[in-house]
Amino acid sequence: MKSCCDVKIKVSGNTSCKECGNKGKPVSEITLKSLVKEPVIETIESLDGFCFCETPTCGVVYFNNEQQAYLHKEDVKVRVGIKETESPIPVCYCFGWTQEKIFEQIKQQGKSTAVKEISAKVKAGECECERKNPSGRCCLGEVTKVVKKGIELYDKTSKKE
Ligand SMILES: [Zn+2]
Repeated sequence: MKSCCDVKIKVSGNTSCKECGNKGKPVSEITLKSLVKEPVIETIESLDGFCFCETPTCGVVYFNNEQQAYLHKEDVKVRVGIKETESPIPVCYCFGWTQEKIFEQIKQQGKSTAVKEISAKVKAGECECERKNPSGRCCLGEVTKVVKKGIELYDKTSKKE
């Protein structure tokens, strides 16, 4: 699958989240500046070398082990979809897709147009994942997962009996 906002940043040193132990994914300065609350940003010495923690149950969103900086959900301006269990759960930040919207489509039509619609907009160069998505990356992977989950949950026609 073609993804739009491939981030090519490398973080040297330890990239494991201190709280959950999982490896984080490097995020750019642009993502941090766009999504971390201003008073928090001001306390950070350098925006280089930060990672995004993808663990759903971990409260850390961004971290930098070298600087001993750990930013949590409350330090970030948007709801981090993969870390939320209550609706609305954002999936695509550029075009406003939530898990609820995708599930609703599947309930009614047995499928979701999310991947198709988002892909078309990505192709047209309309996405801004680096500034809007907390992971700083394209949401299509996550959207595909949510669609799959929705089909398993709601599409009765796909069940083989
Ligand atoms: Zn973590």
